[in-house]
Amino acid sequence: MASRTLTTEAVVLRSIRFSEADCVLHLYTLEKGRVGAIAKGVRKTRSRFGARLEPLSHVELLLHEGRGDLHTVRGAELVRSHDPSRTDPYRLAAGHIGLEAVLRLFVEEEAQPQAFHALTRFLDLLDEVEAELPAQPALEPLVLSFQLKLLWLSGYLPHLAGCAACGEAKPLVAFSARAGGAVCRECAADALPVSEAGFLGIRALLEQPLAGAREAGLEEDALRQCLRVIEASYEEHGGFRLRTLAQTR
Ligand SMILES: [Zn+2]
Repeated sequence: MASRTLTTEAVVLRSIRFSEADCVLHLYTLEKGRVGAIAKGVRKTRSRFGARLEPLSHVELLLHEGRGDLHTVRGAELVRSHDPSRTDPYRLAAGHIGLEAVLRLFVEEEAQPQAFHALTRFLDLLDEVEAELPAQPALEPLVLSFQLKLLWLSGYLPHLAGCAACGEAKPLVAFSARAGGAVCRECAADALPVSEAGFLGIRALLEQPLAGAREAGLEEDALRQCLRVIEASYEEHGGFRLRTLAQTR
């Protein structure tokens, strides 16, 4: 089989030490979706890749497709470093939540340009975010909105228009990840209670562009309910919890 090279924009999701000098990178690429690659010599102080291949970096890569699972990085140009997010603890914590959500939800080598563009937009906006005290990265409206959009792009769109279990247009009082959305009082056994403000918040963060997430002006209680709905959806559909969310509590 002939080996090939590929040029693509990519975001570094995770970097793992592989040997004295090398790293294995988890990448989300525009052209192929999720890709793993080895960056040789990247950990040497005089690496030709410099610090370009760190998590959060938005890069243009020249990848060599070998015979194994991993591609090899042949060239890397920085598109955006996202240094303002990397050097601020609040933005960095929120950024890692977003990266881990992509890591867990988008595992296939399959181009999904909407997901890639949502990721780069999220990182661009994150560079400008100022933490409101007390700083709680897991409740940052931008990262909550990003995760709801990723769930939607993954096909786990929470159904919010009527009861997701019985289909009736009754008042909605809870969220059931198993039923796929909001449920009425009669169908709410084992479901997560959600207030009217909570549902308004979820709708706002889902329907607004990412840039409008912070302008929605949601109260902490509504943000907390959004987070619980997101975590319940991860557990029900993917069977996972985000490590980064557990860390920021
Ligand atoms: Zn119902």
